[in-house]
Amino acid sequence: MAADSRGATPPSPHVRPRLTVLSGPSGVGKSTVVAHLRAEHPEVWVSVSATTRRPRPGERDGVHYFFVDDGEFDKLVANGELLEWAEFAGHRYGTPRRPVADRLQAGEPVLLEIDLQGARLVRASMPQARLVFLAPPSWEELVRRLTGRGTESSEVVQRRLEAARTELAAEPEFDHTLVNTSVEDVSRELLALTRAV
Ligand code: ADP
Ligand code: 5GP
Repeated sequence: MAADSRGATPPSPHVRPRLTVLSGPSGVGKSTVVAHLRAEHPEVWVSVSATTRRPRPGERDGVHYFFVDDGEFDKLVANGELLEWAEFAGHRYGTPRRPVADRLQAGEPVLLEIDLQGARLVRASMPQARLVFLAPPSWEELVRRLTGRGTESSEVVQRRLEAARTELAAEPEFDHTLVNTSVEDVSRELLALTRAV
C-alpha cells in the first residue's frame, strides 16, 4: 500500500478504526476489568497513560502507567503530546497522543481507561468514540471496594468518594453502561463493544 505525503500508511477503506473509552468512579473496578481483558485478549491494545501519582505496589512503569514528575508532565502538555489530560484527586493523568493515533490509523481498536473529564474531552475532539460507563452494583459496594483496596489513606479515599458522586451523576452522557458485578462478564461485554462497528 502506498504511503501518503506524510509518510504514514493510510487505513484500509474497509476498516473502521474504533476508539472505546472506559470510565467510572474510582474503585468500581476499571483496572481490574482492563487487566482481565488484557490477560485473556492480549490483542486488544490498551493505552498507557502518564501520571504524576506514585506507583502502587505491583504497578510497573510503562505497563500500568508512565510514572512522571511534575516537570515531565508539564513538558508533555507544552509539547502537545497528550490527547487529553485531567487533574484527578490531586494528581495529573494524560493519554499519550501518538500511540493512539498510530493504532487508529492502522485500523486497530483502541481502549482508553480514563476519568470523566478525560472522557468528555475525547468526546469533544473525537465524536465517533464509544463511551462506556462502568457502574458499581451499589454505592455501598463502591465504598467497600475503594476502602477494601487499601491503597489510599482515608483522606484520599474521601476525596475519591466525593469525585465518585459527580462521576455517577454523569452516567447518562455515556453510550453504554456496564454494571461491574462480575469481572468476567464485564470483560466479555467490554471486548464485544471494542470490536463492534
Ligand atoms: P478502579 O480501577 O476503578 O479504581 P480497581 O480495579 O482498583 O478499581 O478495583 C477496586 C477494588 O475492587 C479492588 O480491590 C478490586 O479487586 C475490587 N473489584 C474489582 N472488580 C470487582 C468485582 N466485580 N467484584 C468484587 N470486587 C471487585
Ligand atoms: P488511579 O489513580 O486510581 O489509577 O486513577 C485515578 C483516575 O484517573 C481514574 O478514574 C482513571 O480512570 C483516571 N485516569 C487514568 N489515566 C488517565 C488519563 O490518561 N486521562 C484521564 N483523564 N484520566 C485518567
